[in-house]
Amino acid sequence: MTTGNGASETNHQGYVIFISCVAALGGLLFGYDTAVISGTIGFLQEHFDLTPFMTGWAASCALLGCVAGAASAGILSDRYGRKNVLIVSAVLFFVSALGTAIPNQFTTIIVFRVIGGIGVGIASMTSPMYIAEIVPAKIRGAMVTVYQLAIIGGILVVYFVNYFIAGLYDDVWNVATGWRWMFGSEALPALVFLALMFIVPKSPRWLAKQGRPDEALAVLTKITGPGKAQAEMREIEKAIAQESASFWQIFTPGMRKALFIGVALAVLQQANGINVFMYYAPEIFKKMGSDVDSALLQTIIVGITNVSFTLVALWAVDRFGRRPLLILGAVGMGMAHLAMALAFYAEAFQGESLNVSLLVLEFTVPAKYLAMSSSLMLVSMLLFIASFASTYGPCTWVLLSEIYPTQVRGRVMSIAVLCLWFANYIVSQTFPMMIGNPWLAETFHNAFPFLVYAAFCGIAFVFAIVFIPETKGRTLEEIERWWT
Ligand code: BGC
Repeated sequence: MTTGNGASETNHQGYVIFISCVAALGGLLFGYDTAVISGTIGFLQEHFDLTPFMTGWAASCALLGCVAGAASAGILSDRYGRKNVLIVSAVLFFVSALGTAIPNQFTTIIVFRVIGGIGVGIASMTSPMYIAEIVPAKIRGAMVTVYQLAIIGGILVVYFVNYFIAGLYDDVWNVATGWRWMFGSEALPALVFLALMFIVPKSPRWLAKQGRPDEALAVLTKITGPGKAQAEMREIEKAIAQESASFWQIFTPGMRKALFIGVALAVLQQANGINVFMYYAPEIFKKMGSDVDSALLQTIIVGITNVSFTLVALWAVDRFGRRPLLILGAVGMGMAHLAMALAFYAEAFQGESLNVSLLVLEFTVPAKYLAMSSSLMLVSMLLFIASFASTYGPCTWVLLSEIYPTQVRGRVMSIAVLCLWFANYIVSQTFPMMIGNPWLAETFHNAFPFLVYAAFCGIAFVFAIVFIPETKGRTLEEIERWWT
């Protein structure tokens, strides 16, 4: 008997993991689509003879789509369901892959990059939300972390794909044709995602909200077994009956707090500067005077650190909870930025000793330590990525997908994710401006941006202590009662 129950629990768990992995493919395409540009941009520039402004536009136009996608995904997924909206995103990824690979006009490519961006914006919020609504509370953190793992997996896979394609023939071929294959390669994962999305069930919570209890119960039964399904269904129906479907309920005091927490978390996930390392790491490696192909080195070192520490989060998030991870992560990220800033100072003072005065503290760093600035840069960068990957990266998506009531989850999460994309845009735009500003560069020896990000890590630390509720092990219905 015990063995029978155990076996059936394993079957249910296996099914839940399968569904989560399929939905997480939305994250894989999010990573793939945002990173594919890194390999194509140089060839596009030559092929179309682009000015610096147009090159920047080619790299960043997809972000516009992300904002539009995240803004519309909330309303659409509340109305038409999470599964249908994910199917739409898969179609957009596929269309964008072909639309950027085939045409001869630069404008057409831009249009299809924006379409891909809409797919990214939609998938970035609908995938974690769908996973959170479908999996049992005790593994919800881990399953949403699979989505973060998939984002990084997508970034990593496309780096290798780009590297492989670029190595096939010479540069003349790459400028004429190679970039088309890089863009086009996204069609394959998009098709797999599309096909698999047809075989996963609709979100039981969305079905219940739509007044389709029989279908919702059937999905819950497949996920948790008949006994637990009945009890969970009663909980869900009770919670939904108490919720208001009106979007304006977000202005009630409790919900205002929930909205503030989501928006602040989303902005802080970006304001710590993660994407500066994701987008500009090769430049930092070049500064270290590495003679190995810097892009490849980045792929391997940054990628391995990112994946390994996201696995740590997968293990830790349902054991220790979201809050301790966020607190610890903010400390690790802040320290990494300060170390990075120190490395830039050290570089500026190579060959001399450096006198440092910090408020009442004064000390001298001897020249021989300053000579190690590039190793310090590498260590700081890896410390930062490890801290982000094991905490703020996944926990943001976990919390955003679980803290809002079912009736308005899509629409409210959409506001927070919109802010996340906007913050991403601001950070990526301002980093080169800060580094390129002669006064800042001279006064702070290139360390200024890292000091700014360290300050935001300080804010993230206080924010996590004061505002972040612990959601570990609680059902979505228990969590939403906090706000009412
Ligand atoms: C963030 C992205 C980031 C990615 C890779 C995600 O959680 O939202 O902005 O590029 O992690 O680490």
